[in-house]
Order: sequence, then structure tokens, then C-alpha cells
Amino acid sequence: MRIALTVGHSLLKNGSYTSASGEDCGGVNEYKYNKKLMKKVKKYLESDGHSVDLYICPEKVFTAASQEKSWKLARLNAKNYDLVVEGHLNCYNGKAHGTEVLYVSENGKKYAKRVQKKLVSAGFTDRDVQKRTNLYMLNGTKATTIMTESFFCDSKSDYKIGKNVNKIAKLIAEGICNKKLGTATKAKEAVKTAVKKVTKATVYAKVVTKSDPLMIRNSANRSSKIIGKIPKGSKAEVIKKGSTWTKVKYKSVVGYSATKYLKF
Ligand SMILES: [Zn+2]
Repeated sequence: MRIALTVGHSLLKNGSYTSASGEDCGGVNEYKYNKKLMKKVKKYLESDGHSVDLYICPEKVFTAASQEKSWKLARLNAKNYDLVVEGHLNCYNGKAHGTEVLYVSENGKKYAKRVQKKLVSAGFTDRDVQKRTNLYMLNGTKATTIMTESFFCDSKSDYKIGKNVNKIAKLIAEGICNKKLGTATKAKEAVKTAVKKVTKATVYAKVVTKSDPLMIRNSANRSSKIIGKIPKGSKAEVIKKGSTWTKVKYKSVVGYSATKYLKF
């Protein structure tokens, strides 16, 4: 899937956040939290093979929260995303707590329900998914969109759970992908190994001598013992290409041949 992640709210030119904050009552700043969270969600989604763009409004550029809307919608609607997920946190009176995921379309509801279920499994109170018809992020995007209100940023007890940003990110990604995911690092390693394996796929070089067969020598120098010959026009497996000598394999003989007689 092509997925776009966005971070709700922004940091204005005057240094104030357009988001809520529970920082002064044992909670967390909504914008700051989601910025961390969505970066991690991106990693998890990418580990599952999705192509993910993360949009964070430029910091200390806007003078009003209203500028966030056009900045985000222009970018989100310029591409054909399958899904857009915006990260938020609720805020109320320090006592309210729990998780809500917002949607507007039926397809959005499907994703919202899955993400909701995952987030609730972390220990948050289930406030259920909410259909919201008055939000530009849900109404203004071409793609199916959901908004996560993972917990209440001004709830001390919620933040105790939410503090584990990595865990929350993983749960959101798992809800989107509808499956359990490994750790992002493990998945990354798996991708690396797979790439390495591909790189290590056998490479052949063709012998381009005038007419003689190409010698395979025991080591990389002209006086070294000849241990095999490759006929002109034949292909040898390249083990390691060098500027003068190339380590080759031909009919189970492994040795060195002059690079200038090989066409890669
Ligand atoms: Zn918000």
C-alpha cells in the first residue's frame, strides 16, 4: 500500500504549539508525542513492505493553525495514497482517558476498528471508533483517512502506558497491516539480508581471448601454477572482480584469471 502519515498540529513561528499539551500535569505535548510516534509507525509499516510518506508541517513557519490544512491537503491529494493516518492525542480535564480512532468513510471504519482494537490491547480504555463528519483531514483527503486519538495527553494514567512510544507505534502499524509485526530492527535486518542475497546472485563473465583458452591460476600472479583453463567464448562464474586478476570459478575449479580477458 501507499500510505501517508501526518502529524496533527504544528509548531508556529512564535514558538507556540497548535496542539494540546499535558506536559504541566504529568502528561505529554500532543504534537511532540505524535512526531515521535509517526516516525516509528513509518518504520514499522516500511518493514512490512509498504511505501510510506510522513508529512510534518514545517516548524516555526506558520503564523496560524489554519495554515496547516492547505499545506497538508495539497501534499496528500497530489499523490494516490491508499491510506492516510494522522496522529493526535485527546485532551480534556486531566481525568478523561482512553482511546478513540476517528473515521468518516466505511473503508476508514474498517481501519479505525483494527487500530482501535490494537491500541486498547495496550491497556487504554476503549472509547470506541468515532465517525466524525466535521474534520478537514477526513473530509478533505482523497484517500481513506483515519485519525488516531491514541490516548489523553493530559491523563497521567494514560501517559504511563503511552510513554512506550515504540509499543504504541507498533500497535498502530499492526492495526493498519492487520497482522503481527516483528520489531522494526529485525525486519530491517531481514530486508538487508534479502538485499545481500540478491547482490550475491551469481555473476558470469565471458572469456574474450583471441583464440587460446584463459588460464586459471592458483594465485593472482602470472607465475602462479595453472590449475585450469576456460575455453574462449565460455562463461566463468565471477567470485570477485579485480582490476588485474579476477577470482573465478569454472567447472568446480576456483582460481584467478586475467581480468583483461573477461567480459563482464
Ligand atoms: Zn489533535
